[in-house]
Amino acid sequence: MRLASWRWGGRDHVGTVSACGRELTPLACRDAAAGVLPLIELLAEGGSLPSPSGTRLPTDAVVLRAPLPRPRRGLFCVGRNYHAHAAELAGSVFRNHVTDDRGWPIVFGKLAECVVGPHDAVRLPNPSTSVQIDYESELAVVIGRGGLDIQRSRAMDHVFGYTVVNDVTARDVQMRHQQWDLGKSFDSFCPMGPWIVTADELDGRDTRVRGWVTPAGGAPELRQDGFTRDMIHDIPTLIETCSRGITLLPGDVIATGTPAGVGMGFEPPRWLRAGDVVRIEIDGLGAIENRFERLAA
Ligand code: MG
Repeated sequence: MRLASWRWGGRDHVGTVSACGRELTPLACRDAAAGVLPLIELLAEGGSLPSPSGTRLPTDAVVLRAPLPRPRRGLFCVGRNYHAHAAELAGSVFRNHVTDDRGWPIVFGKLAECVVGPHDAVRLPNPSTSVQIDYESELAVVIGRGGLDIQRSRAMDHVFGYTVVNDVTARDVQMRHQQWDLGKSFDSFCPMGPWIVTADELDGRDTRVRGWVTPAGGAPELRQDGFTRDMIHDIPTLIETCSRGITLLPGDVIATGTPAGVGMGFEPPRWLRAGDVVRIEIDGLGAIENRFERLAA
């Protein structure tokens, strides 16, 4: 099943997406502004989906929102989680900021307020704040049934589904501080979508993540092409790690890290500029595509 959130006719809606992705069926949901979170909570408690509340409509006719427009307490994010990406960081401008591998995942946060829709513009910051804007194509795990101290062996039972995120990053700001949250949480720095695919339809432990950059006026360039099976710390380990001492809740999001090919990994680095478009596609899930723009504050 695929669950989406969209805006149409001046109102927010949630509902299901057809297998081909071209049709939406709205569901009777009282708090559609919250995206699919109320549906995840309902299903996690053993409830069933509400009934359809209207006729189907083409996906092209609506503005898709992020399925979770405001994750209730931000996103859990994992850094340096693919071997090839770890190798490119070791040779990049970031090399002095990568600590030695201690065997534990790197976990940081993104503020909930930086989430935007799967086709929304991403706002480039004032150049005095950052000129090193980078993309990170990622699979995000959405938690269904919550839990504390979830064992690795049972962790997949807590996965509701998956979505695509771009963990957009201001590298100079990320490197400036001991913690990464500031450089990862600029307004609009977390495009998400196009919907959530439930775990019965996609095994996030074995799918393909690709990212393209189309420079302003240029042709698309495939920059990232990785498989989630190449994660250093797999999804069960990430869930076990994030739930140690913190009760995970339905709708929590864990962004699982990015494959090799980020802009920082090139020599010289290839930072995003106004007019560039980043497309991220995950097999079995769908794609998000966002233009980077210098928008007024
Ligand atoms: Mg990341």
